[in-house]
Amino acid sequence: MPTIVQKFGGTSVADPERILRCARRVAEARAAGNRVVVVVSAMGHTTDELIDLAAKVTANPSPRAMAMLMSTGEQVSVALMAMALHGLGCDAVSLTGWQAGMDTDAAHRKARIARVDRARLEGILGSGAVPVVCGFQGVSAEGNITPLGPGGSDATAVALAAALDVAADGGACEIFTDVDGVYTADPRLVPSAAKLRHIRYEAMLELASVGAAVMHPRAVLFGEKFGVPIHVRHSQKPDSGTMIVPEEQIMEDIVVVGCALKPDLGRISLKGLPKVPGIQAQIFEPIAAANIGVDDIVQTEFGDATTIAFTVEHGDIADVKAVCQRLVGAFGRGDIDVEVGLAKISAVGTGMKSHTGVASRMFRALADAGVPIHNITTSEIKISAIVDRQNGEKGLQAVHDAFGLAAGDGVTASMQSSGRGRR
Ligand code: ADP
Ligand code: ASP
Ligand code: MG
Repeated sequence: MPTIVQKFGGTSVADPERILRCARRVAEARAAGNRVVVVVSAMGHTTDELIDLAAKVTANPSPRAMAMLMSTGEQVSVALMAMALHGLGCDAVSLTGWQAGMDTDAAHRKARIARVDRARLEGILGSGAVPVVCGFQGVSAEGNITPLGPGGSDATAVALAAALDVAADGGACEIFTDVDGVYTADPRLVPSAAKLRHIRYEAMLELASVGAAVMHPRAVLFGEKFGVPIHVRHSQKPDSGTMIVPEEQIMEDIVVVGCALKPDLGRISLKGLPKVPGIQAQIFEPIAAANIGVDDIVQTEFGDATTIAFTVEHGDIADVKAVCQRLVGAFGRGDIDVEVGLAKISAVGTGMKSHTGVASRMFRALADAGVPIHNITTSEIKISAIVDRQNGEKGLQAVHDAFGLAAGDGVTASMQSSGRGRR
């Protein structure tokens, strides 16, 4: 009997009617002869509202109390989903993250899943009932509730699917959301974006990491690592969705498969630092230890001084500034400069590994759209440009269309290139 993990995101369970519609999909999957596990997010914007609520009580909530507060959103959803299933005559058991065996590390607000104990889930499935699990939360070794970070319910779903080895019996992890699949860019920002029937794990991981919110990057990573078939679908409409698949299932090597925008970035510049060996390690070790992600690192040298600049998400600026203030104090020299209002536009595609002309085409598109570029970074399958936030959407649209990704152009247009070799 196939095992299917069905995850329903916040918009999909935003009100009672939608919860009932999602419950009907679960009941149908079960009636069709599957073992079904459900993962749900908090209703609508509940998580953001809980964060705002905490800010009204204190400027500095303790991480433990914050985790406790944030975990309540998903608990409301699992309880209501289980009730909706009962009403449809479908036996269901609602579970918090810890009740479902989701063990994590203790990282503040962005815990990582360490292991999943499948015993309780197997017991419930064995009794013929549907486990309904809180997304976005686990429990640390110390017994504290741990939030998995924004969008973390996707990671819960794929981790459960991996632990239950859904691929072994022809099952899958279905990510039900408010779009009917993965598009060549966020269809809310780029109306000409086209839906992809398939995308490779590798390309989806990179797209998710550079801002395509439709999937959480860690969820894609688990999917690839444990061979979990992931199917992204619309929760309220019947559709074919998008399958996230391994390399061998897609023959063509598309140069650019999609584009994404990461808005709300800030740049921290540490100026006038001493020019001594090891300064980079001294800066980035404490930032990493504080669990803050940085990218686009640029180093410039002038005389006996070094400047190191990097971008972080707006939400991390206060934390990173505190770390940098301590560092500058310890170095005995240097200034901290913080710029806000930046964004990152990225083009992603596995075919970049073997084609040239990709970066130049992106730069031409941004130039023609009148978008100045502040910095550029590349990986084997991605090119990113840092731009002003107010140019983000215009630049994304221009880059998207320059690679022939618009619906009707056919994705193959982006395969035209000037030859082999790196950019
Ligand atoms: P959920 O609450 O279901 O987890 P999210 O808001 O996290 O939903 O993700 C779905 C949203 O992701 C869509 O509404 C869409 O605006 C956005 N999105 C960003 N990039 C893409 C993309 N490439 N394809 C589809 N949707 C995207
Ligand atoms: N409710 C959490 C969030 O808003 C987790 C999720 O929806 O995936 O980020
Ligand atoms: Mg999401």
